[in-house]
Amino acid sequence: MIQKCRVCGKEYDVDAIIYNCECGGLLEIKYDFESIKEKVSKESLRERELGVWRYLDYLPVKDPAKIVSLHEGGTPLYKCENLAKKLGMKELYVKNEGANPTGSFKDRGMTVGVTRANELGVEVVGCASTGNTSASLAAYSARAGKKCIVLLPGGKVALGKLAQAMFYGAKVIQINGNFDEALVMVKNLALENKLYLLNSVNPFRLEGQKTIGFEICDQLDFEVPDMVILPVGNAGNISAIWKGFKEFKETEMIDRLPKMTGIQAEGAQPIVKAIKEGLDEIVPDENPETIATAIRIGNPVNAAKALDAIKSSGGLAESVNDEEIIEAQKLLAQTEGIFVEPASASSIAGLIKLINMGLIDKDQKIVCITTGNGLKDPDAAIKASKMPTEIECDMEVLRKAIEE
Ligand SMILES: *Cc1c(COP(=O)(O)O)cnc(C)c1O
Ligand SMILES: [Zn+2]
Repeated sequence: MIQKCRVCGKEYDVDAIIYNCECGGLLEIKYDFESIKEKVSKESLRERELGVWRYLDYLPVKDPAKIVSLHEGGTPLYKCENLAKKLGMKELYVKNEGANPTGSFKDRGMTVGVTRANELGVEVVGCASTGNTSASLAAYSARAGKKCIVLLPGGKVALGKLAQAMFYGAKVIQINGNFDEALVMVKNLALENKLYLLNSVNPFRLEGQKTIGFEICDQLDFEVPDMVILPVGNAGNISAIWKGFKEFKETEMIDRLPKMTGIQAEGAQPIVKAIKEGLDEIVPDENPETIATAIRIGNPVNAAKALDAIKSSGGLAESVNDEEIIEAQKLLAQTEGIFVEPASASSIAGLIKLINMGLIDKDQKIVCITTGNGLKDPDAAIKASKMPTEIECDMEVLRKAIEE
């Protein structure tokens, strides 16, 4: 197990606290797949319950006694027959990451990231966040007995997420700036050794998140979907899930790979633009804006990894506007009973748009990932809803009201 630079190939010890290679490249955790292959089989995996730690053999942990867990992962993969029928599709699934302990997939990354902090003996952890990263880190650091510092873009964090970060006891600092600016600031603190950084530039976080890919295979009885569609913000998750699929193929758990399709909001779509314009690098969006605050990011740190995931898997990249996002959020709730936050609904909005554009074959087996719980952003949900009918306590009036 080693940390390796994706650009120049330089290797670093797993215990080195470093977020980028000296050359500036992103780091990645590499394993000895031959020894993993000898140790695990589809059957042996299933001796542990479904969740992040079922895949311990694929994770960068030296001392399992140091694991910090709130029982993350093991989220449902719903077969969505109502929605599929509506869209004229054959086989559609939703992997609902809102079912994690703090309500988003970030918990998968944090159980591994905070375990790493534990193994390193670090006392203070921190992150910049559009909301969910801070909620998750605050919870896991509370469980680990560590101090937690979070930087948030002022006024742009959904209410549920802010409540979580404060309530789990983190030191919450709002800046007069956006997420990208908050990330630069907290990274400076990390380089000054004031805290251990747990944004997705930290490759250990992505190791936890790659288990979404493992679980999808596991839940489909190792029948790989044709395409996986998910929202893209800082671009860690799409990179992580792609890494998971590749590692399952490398260790012969699966025999092919899905296409990875990334969806961004119209007002924050540097990756979509780079893919469509055939660029090798993104051009950052200076003023990202969208109702989907979890993906309101203009300069995704994992862009290089995400561009590789989309291009080398043969996937697509598309943007959706706020209206399409809210429509999809409602549709998913009202056809399948799955309530997700706006950013998460962009995967569904993207699916619908790509179908309408004729870019998705309706006979394919498709998995949309919904990244966070709808309760995270009650303001957005209430704004998009019809208000309750108010009546007096009178049976006659009530009988009339239900007929309306
Ligand atoms: C963090 C987050 C995203 C974006 O994930 P990235 O790894 O930053 O691309 C999308 N949706 C929700 C709900 C999130 O919390
Ligand atoms: Zn390098």
